[in-house]
Amino acid sequence: MFGLFKKNKPVKIRGYSGDRKYGIASKDVKELIKKGCKLLQLPLSGAHVCLYEDGTIVTEEFFPTLPDNCELVLLSRGQTWSGVVCDIGRLLNTDRHADGLIEAAKGLLADEKSFKRRKVLTDLLQNLEDRSDLETREEDEDWFTGVDVRFKTKSAYMKYNCESRIRGYVKEVDNATNSIQKAKVKEEFLKASKCLVEMLKNDKYNGKYFDRTEKESGRLCTKEGWFTCQGSFEQKLCQLLHSINPYGSRESRIVFSTWNLDHRIEKKRTIIPALLEALQTHKTADINLNYFYQMLFTRENLKLVHIVCHKKGAHDLTCDTNKMFRTSKNARKAKEDTKGKKKHCT
Ligand SMILES: [Zn+2]
Ligand SMILES: [Zn+2]
Repeated sequence: MFGLFKKNKPVKIRGYSGDRKYGIASKDVKELIKKGCKLLQLPLSGAHVCLYEDGTIVTEEFFPTLPDNCELVLLSRGQTWSGVVCDIGRLLNTDRHADGLIEAAKGLLADEKSFKRRKVLTDLLQNLEDRSDLETREEDEDWFTGVDVRFKTKSAYMKYNCESRIRGYVKEVDNATNSIQKAKVKEEFLKASKCLVEMLKNDKYNGKYFDRTEKESGRLCTKEGWFTCQGSFEQKLCQLLHSINPYGSRESRIVFSTWNLDHRIEKKRTIIPALLEALQTHKTADINLNYFYQMLFTRENLKLVHIVCHKKGAHDLTCDTNKMFRTSKNARKAKEDTKGKKKHCT
């Protein structure tokens, strides 16, 4: 007599859009669809049910094998569900005012014990609570915690941050002076480095690279402040799609300091020694300083990389000997490069 008396099975059902779940008990799929359509106010004709998890259609034969309180989705004619992937798509479509989502994630986090899920939730929150649309200290005080009071806007601080990194490279050029034995070479090297610093001052230490208010050709980020990793020195692109918006939160700003402006042709191992070598036999006036400037201080040779894409080993790339010395062609090129700007150095 068993087959005649079907037990009611409790399930949780939800619609295609909206994540509110309803508990329903029914003896079969037919009854479930009927109750579900009434509850969600959907047309009965063409309605079908599938597993929330992976979108498998629930048939009458399949129904009795489902665990109690299994999560199901009620679909209308023509609708399909590809499982939780659908939800991720919807999640990504939420804008920054996803307050409900933030609340939900915080709620889940409050009693989450698994380290892995805690990490996923905190990363999600970190990304949802993006405040990159705010710019001034008054608007986003938290972002400025620990930042010198003279900085009133995020962009001004980021510009300074880039300048400081590039000033660090100047220091390394200066340090190389100490290793020079011959007085004559030392003198020429000092002359060269002085010119390079002049050129850099004209370009305001290239702080524009991190400044989102700069025009597009000048900055490395989007106007919202997103930076993408340019891939390690031997790659065209970052395969791992690293990206960061240091304008978004205090944490992102701090994490951004682990991102590196990496010299493709290495400054300490290659460029500075090449300049020193050239000055053994040439005067500064014969050196194409514009080339050395490009290699040491500009995005011609600098790549912004996530720490994972910052390879520490030797890059084995050399300076272009055709460009290192002044020729009429190089001189013309240098002139074109500086067109419209104050003349750098002679
Ligand atoms: Zn990368
Ligand atoms: Zn490096």
